[in-house]
Amino acid sequence: MVSKKKIMTSLVTSVALASISFTTVGQVVPQLGVQVQTTKAATSAINDYINNNNIQPVSITNQEGTFSYWTPYENGVGKPEGVVIHETATPGATAQNEATYFNREWSNIYTYVHAFVDNNQILNIKNTDYAVWGAGPTANAKFVQVELCEVSSTDAFARSVANQAYYTASKLVQYNLPFTPGVTVMSHNDVSKKWGETTHTDPVGYFANWGYSMDQFYDLIGKYYNQLKGTTNGGSSNTTNNGGTDNGNANVINVNNASGSYVPLVAFLSDGSMQKITNRALANNTPWYTDQVKDYNGVQYHRVATNEWVASNYVK
Ligand SMILES: [Zn+2]
Repeated sequence: MVSKKKIMTSLVTSVALASISFTTVGQVVPQLGVQVQTTKAATSAINDYINNNNIQPVSITNQEGTFSYWTPYENGVGKPEGVVIHETATPGATAQNEATYFNREWSNIYTYVHAFVDNNQILNIKNTDYAVWGAGPTANAKFVQVELCEVSSTDAFARSVANQAYYTASKLVQYNLPFTPGVTVMSHNDVSKKWGETTHTDPVGYFANWGYSMDQFYDLIGKYYNQLKGTTNGGSSNTTNNGGTDNGNANVINVNNASGSYVPLVAFLSDGSMQKITNRALANNTPWYTDQVKDYNGVQYHRVATNEWVASNYVK
């Protein structure tokens, strides 16, 4: 969650840090010890629901927004160190609603994130090679920031966290980062405790409303991370069946456009003809689930969303 008041504070802190080097601003926060991560999978009704209903995450929609700052991370452009997990605290607002609001208001509320996720969509609105304003200056300089939208049914919640976990895993894979819970993936709550620049505790409270926890969410990220890693490293086209109801139908392709800044998509119309999609594209060097292939005019296309296909010449 990002709010006007808190982010104003963050911006002021950011300016202060820039002008007076690394003096600590704000109150001293007790440092917690390194938390021991349990390796045992946390039992989760939501994760079971996702498995039992074979819920698959949707593909990432890149819809570059209006945020006009192109700020490198502390390690440089294209070098985030992980992902911060947020939730919006705005019941009923969809990813598109949130994107529209922040694209209009970011320069007034001093807040922007990379992506909003709901039960139907993963909407990436800022190139994740560059930093945004989501969780205070320290975390902003390190992390990709993704917000979960609030929904009102168990099914929608399960789909929304599947999408957020998949987005997180795909960013870790995209940037060659390990999955280390609490380090390369942190909740905004973790960020507040660690650096004390914000007081937000999301998404812990909202997760708890659904009987869900960060540990359970980490299990879900791990599932997608392993699927993506397994496929990209091993060259095998099938993900492995780890005993659940994942039946390995989610093949993953890596796409890249060597001669452009994004990978174009096409749609097939009901009359069988093909049409270029002009308002969406895939980011270069990103992994995608694909469930179907189709030939059209001698070119093979891989399906990455309901009616979004990528030509095989972009598949690495
Ligand atoms: Zn937050």
